[in-house]
Amino acid sequence: MTLSVTFCGAAGGVTGSCYLLRTPAGNFLIDCGMFQGSKTVKELNYGPFPFDASDIRAVLLTHAHIDHSGLIPKLVKAGFVGVVFATEPTCDLLTYMLPDSGYIQETEVDRLNRRNARRGRPQVEPIYTREDAEKALKRLRPVEYHQWIEIAPGFEVRYWDAGHILGSASIEVRIDGEPGHKTRHLLFSGDIGTGEAVFNDAPEGPSDVDYLFVETTYGDRQRVDMTADERRTMLATEVREALIAGGNLVIPSFAVARTQELLVDLAALFNSGQLPKADVFIDSPLAQRATGVFARYLDAQDARALNHPNFHMVPDVEASIQLARIKGGAIILSASGMCDAGRVRYHLKNNLWRPECTVLLVGYQAAGSLGRILLSGAKNVRIHGDQIQVRARVRNLDIYSGHADQQTLLEWVKARQPVHKAIFLTHGENPARTTFRDLLIANDIPAKLLSSPSLDETVVLRRGKDHQPPITRRLGHDVMSREDWHNDYARTLTALSEKLAALSTNRQREKLLAKLTSTIERS
Ligand SMILES: [Zn+2]
Repeated sequence: MTLSVTFCGAAGGVTGSCYLLRTPAGNFLIDCGMFQGSKTVKELNYGPFPFDASDIRAVLLTHAHIDHSGLIPKLVKAGFVGVVFATEPTCDLLTYMLPDSGYIQETEVDRLNRRNARRGRPQVEPIYTREDAEKALKRLRPVEYHQWIEIAPGFEVRYWDAGHILGSASIEVRIDGEPGHKTRHLLFSGDIGTGEAVFNDAPEGPSDVDYLFVETTYGDRQRVDMTADERRTMLATEVREALIAGGNLVIPSFAVARTQELLVDLAALFNSGQLPKADVFIDSPLAQRATGVFARYLDAQDARALNHPNFHMVPDVEASIQLARIKGGAIILSASGMCDAGRVRYHLKNNLWRPECTVLLVGYQAAGSLGRILLSGAKNVRIHGDQIQVRARVRNLDIYSGHADQQTLLEWVKARQPVHKAIFLTHGENPARTTFRDLLIANDIPAKLLSSPSLDETVVLRRGKDHQPPITRRLGHDVMSREDWHNDYARTLTALSEKLAALSTNRQREKLLAKLTSTIERS
């Protein structure tokens, strides 16, 4: 029978990770992640899966991050009745993450529907609710690292520590051949860690596989190696400058892993006197719960650091709203890390327009996300439909990434050799994977092994006599890694209002608007 893989996410972009594996033993998914970034990409979350959910026997989950796990409740809602295999810490984290994600879907759609009603637009349904997410949790089954597990007759998997976040894994898959066929050996990298992160070990994995699927998030970026002390000194400099500027410091931070890493470093800086003891508000219910999970798995010293007396967990929405009253000297850690959803958007609304405030970005910002737009130096942004001036200092600290840089990725790929049939470059925007592809070739990896699949592309790994139904493509080539017309629209509105404000007479403003209207009518 035919053996194929379809790249249903994170192909030419970094979000929505999902591989569909169609094998003689049945159909399986590796990850089932949510899409993030431009609105066009996010709309994929609302549309149907490109496969039949009830036809999937099992999901093999690499790690808890929402761009890898976030559509599991939607899969269950769509008829999936199999098991989701993940390491025990991943299962623990998901217990909080998936219901939180369901709650975010519900509240965002509520707000959108209120806006749609005012504009006479149709109502939309959330992708899934908190209740759907809670149902999906029943499908989780914990697995151990390093042990072969038979998922179905002739289909075995083994989890390796990917060193990316608590519980993260690369997944090795062994598919037995039918009579006359050899066993096929696949390795999915998941997200690969840096080897020197706050809590994680170096990434590991087997060598000698037939097919390798490797992430390329930072395939074009080289980071300087740094010790924990050097990392903390850089953080201290940013925080100190923000406090001197007199306003608040808002740190949009991924609730899981990044927040806990920052807390451990801030605690160390407070205790050593390198930073004055400022109040740190952790305003993300998910970050608070995830911190509890981390405290259970970390060593005693790190677990204690997460409980520093200057750290204040913001208990509810009321208390979150109260934070708007603080005009300076507070450090606010809030999710989401790409500023796309969650409470951080309120803190940005409250602080972005004030020149004494600072926004410190500490993670990867996908194309089209608000974080990326801020990073690119936008002077105005739109949040919840309001235009907000950016007068705060926007800073970027690229030392906390959980992702391997170019050199670590290269070493990881080299350590997996020999790879006999193909290496698929995924989970990277196109410039990153093109650069990484060239680097692999320069390092004697044969070009004929390398492939950069696009979204929903199917590659046949072994052709049988049966016929697999084709998978329909959802989006055009290259949509994943760029901004869309919604971004252009927001920019055009901003440019227009800036221009109108800059003109000196009402006569000039009327003339400009008349010119625009006639262009619109003619087109
Ligand atoms: Zn991840």
